[in-house]
Amino acid sequence: MNRKANRKSPIAMIVSISIIILIAILGSIYYKFEVAQTEEKSVKPNEVENVETQNKTNETEEPLKQPEGNGADLPSSDKNGEKPPTNSGEQPNQQPAKEAPVTEEVELENGYIVGQKPATEPTFVKGVLIANKKNPLPATYNKGEDPKARAAYEKMAKAAMEDGLELVAFSGFRSYDYQKTLYDRYVKRDGKEAADRYSARPGYSEHQTGLAFDIGEKGREELWLTNEFGQTEAGQWLAQNAHKYGFILRYPKGKEDITGFMHESWHFRYLEGELAAKVYEAGVTLEEYLGIQ
Ligand SMILES: [Zn+2]
Repeated sequence: MNRKANRKSPIAMIVSISIIILIAILGSIYYKFEVAQTEEKSVKPNEVENVETQNKTNETEEPLKQPEGNGADLPSSDKNGEKPPTNSGEQPNQQPAKEAPVTEEVELENGYIVGQKPATEPTFVKGVLIANKKNPLPATYNKGEDPKARAAYEKMAKAAMEDGLELVAFSGFRSYDYQKTLYDRYVKRDGKEAADRYSARPGYSEHQTGLAFDIGEKGREELWLTNEFGQTEAGQWLAQNAHKYGFILRYPKGKEDITGFMHESWHFRYLEGELAAKVYEAGVTLEEYLGIQ
């Protein structure tokens, strides 16, 4: 009955075809709208990320932090409406908020802070003068050898002599300029990466404090500045007794990641009062003892 009716009624056919076409048109409009939205969501964040990573340093750690701050929330999801999403003037509202979490990341090169400004004042922590890879001295810090450190060294050397060991402090105070000469020479010889492990950049040497000595044994100069010295009787004596005279072995074995320098059996640092003994007994580095970097 119905089929017959349909065939016989062109008006009904036209109406139903029109309805189908109308549904198809509405469907395609809706589909386009959906695609436009999802495309926007998936494409925009990448673009934003790229721009941001160019602005920042291009180091490896940075990108990890970025996704949380930007991307997802940037091309706002509720900014739909009828028109395809164009950039209106409102976006800046959201930009400042996402910048905030991506700060304070310090970039290091061989333990040094990249782009660190030259120091204008020396760093004291609990009264202790610090010179390490994170805490440089001003180029103008040029007080020479500390008399107390020298006196303490002489006392220690005398005690060692009584035990039959003749110590030599073959390197003590070094000025900023002299350290620069040394460091530049080592870089030229071994490259920056290697030089940074055993020689400080100018301003970062503990020798500039006037409180540090490189110590060896007289007659065994071939072992100066080598860790073989640590195996000798004199090296052992120092490791076990220096703290009694106010000195610590500044760069112990296995603490390179904390002190920033490889083990140096010959480098001793003077600390006033009982501090050297306390650090020695705690069995830690100066950085650990003071709770600094
Ligand atoms: Zn030294």
